[in-house]
Amino acid sequence: APVQADWPALLRDVADFPRPGILFKDITPLLADAHGFAAAIATLAAPWRAAPPHAVVGIESRGFILGAALAQALGVGFVPVRKPGKLPGPTLALDYALEYGSDRLEMHVDALPAGAPVLLVDDVLATGGTLQAAVALLQQQGAHVVAASVLIELSALSARQRWDAQVPLLAGLVI
Ligand code: IMP
Repeated sequence: APVQADWPALLRDVADFPRPGILFKDITPLLADAHGFAAAIATLAAPWRAAPPHAVVGIESRGFILGAALAQALGVGFVPVRKPGKLPGPTLALDYALEYGSDRLEMHVDALPAGAPVLLVDDVLATGGTLQAAVALLQQQGAHVVAASVLIELSALSARQRWDAQVPLLAGLVI
């Protein structure tokens, strides 16, 4: 059997980023390691190999890196959910509350056929606000979100306890 790289060992903790008091999980050393990156994508792909979704949807920016690789691994297309003003075509937008202020996610209105089963991907689940907003945006658009998948779930923030149970929440690593 092929040796599976210990991909969680390639994550790096960065203290006080982006603000004092935050311990940031940095995935860049993992991405830079060919075997580690492949093993992380294999972990995310494993539940979907037998029955892939119509597309993988990734959230800007690190969700693009993981989502594009995951889409390729599953042999399906990739659809970006972006920050405001980045997509060139007609978009559907959703505003969501942050701890301080609000933010907005957008996607192309014609990115997905009605009822398409999609797998939503991001790098890190912290409060869950970003992923929940992306689920809501996809559902508004008429997509069927088969699951939301993150590489890393930060369990201290208890996002799973507040998660909408209609959509399965999967994590490659819970820390
Ligand atoms: P949430 O909305 O609070 O769950 O935050 C998740 C979003 O913030 C994701 O898009 C992540 O990319 C980003 N994020 C939050 N914490 C971290 C971290 O420690 N490392 C990398 N990204 C993070």
